[in-house]
Amino acid sequence: MVTTIHYCAKCTSDQLRRNGSKQGQPKYQCKACGYQGLFVPAAVRKAAQYAQVDALLLERNSQRSIARVTGVARRTIAKRIKKSSPASAATASLAA
Ligand SMILES: [Zn+2]
Repeated sequence: MVTTIHYCAKCTSDQLRRNGSKQGQPKYQCKACGYQGLFVPAAVRKAAQYAQVDALLLERNSQRSIARVTGVARRTIAKRIKKSSPASAATASLAA
């Protein structure tokens, strides 16, 4: 069995108690400082969202359709395309 120790995002204390849920994610309350937050950090959620974006980009969906389906901003999708393709960086350096 894998146990995960959670720490408070504000004071890094491990004295947390479960305090309800928000949109299906469990919330915690820190006993030390009283801070309330979600157990799942935003980075994990974003990584899953970006993996879906990359899969849809491979299928050559349009940026606007990916933005509609995933809820990621179109500018973010455009940035990921620019970062991921070395060919576009090569042509940009040739043009300059
Ligand atoms: Zn705390």
